Amino acid sequence: MIITLKQGTTERDIRRVMCAVEKKKGLEARVTKGKNHTVVEVIGDTAGVSTRTFESYVCVQQVDRISAEYKRVAKVGGKDNTLVRVNGIEIGGESLVLMMGPCSVESPEQIMEAARIVSELPKGNHIAGYLLRGGAFKPRSSPYSFQGHGLQAVKWMKQAGEEYGLPIVTEVMDSRDIESMLDAGVDVFQVGARNSQNYSLLKELGRQKRPVLLKRGIAGTIDEILLSAEYIVRGGNDDVILCLRGIRSYNTGHYRNQVDVPDIMRLQELTHLPVIYDPSHATGKRDVVIGCALQAIIGAADGLIVEMHPNPEEAWSDGAQSLFPRQAHSLAKAADEMKQAFNSTREYRITSEQARE
Ligand code: PEP
Ligand code: MN
Repeated sequence: MIITLKQGTTERDIRRVMCAVEKKKGLEARVTKGKNHTVVEVIGDTAGVSTRTFESYVCVQQVDRISAEYKRVAKVGGKDNTLVRVNGIEIGGESLVLMMGPCSVESPEQIMEAARIVSELPKGNHIAGYLLRGGAFKPRSSPYSFQGHGLQAVKWMKQAGEEYGLPIVTEVMDSRDIESMLDAGVDVFQVGARNSQNYSLLKELGRQKRPVLLKRGIAGTIDEILLSAEYIVRGGNDDVILCLRGIRSYNTGHYRNQVDVPDIMRLQELTHLPVIYDPSHATGKRDVVIGCALQAIIGAADGLIVEMHPNPEEAWSDGAQSLFPRQAHSLAKAADEMKQAFNSTREYRITSEQARE
């Protein structure tokens, strides 16, 4: 259990909380003074101890019962949020990151054109920057569908990214491809929904230093995505970005997946890692992608990954959910305004601390 104290808590109050902990049989208190907060770590078996025991102290801001399993990615101990930096673009800070591009890299011309379009999207004050997305190794439900052009497509994508000054994010499906993808200049490795619990892949990605965009599993729980992230961070790579993309449900007649926007806030409470949203795979329908994306921003997303194709009607995969370039333009403008609105509500947001008052 971790007890985070309010800023400015006096030594006397720290000692009172420590006494309250040590009054419980078998428990010990260990104090850590962080940049912003002092934290009291409760050591021992806390299974029978209610968090309310400590929440009643005025100097206590928050009490977290951490599942021992994801201690590295958990937001506890007054730890600052992780900022993932990709070629000077900060992910998880005050501004939004937008990742856009086609579902699949189809040809050098197509990805070059997509990069040009992304590079010309509006750069508002609340947009940290753009990345170029695109699938080179494609996880397809059917073995007869287009499987992607593989490493060749990563190279085409890198050329396009370099031409237009965009870092690239692309999916890795097999740990045997990591080395060659690094050589080809991948800036962010994407782990897709289907590989969200491929632990040998996650471990390998933990051993290298490029950032990893980890997607929620097809029916993954919140704890499962955090535990998957823990595999990567535990391996030595702190630069993990979580991505929600809807979950499999019974409601599939209308949308591809069940939208899971509210879970962004839950993750923002539980982890210091950045959390972004994929409205394309969450909904599967172009006409609701922008609305869903804006909900995600007001719902505390640090960014978006969105499918956009120069000519979505002719796309080799996921055309129905891919935005037309002019829609990507509208989304970028609206996203900037929505992020501004989100930032301006900060002082009105009810924190768990206020909710208890
Ligand atoms: C993708 O982003 O290209 C993709 C395949 O998404 P997901 O893994 O979320 O299905
Ligand atoms: Mn897709």
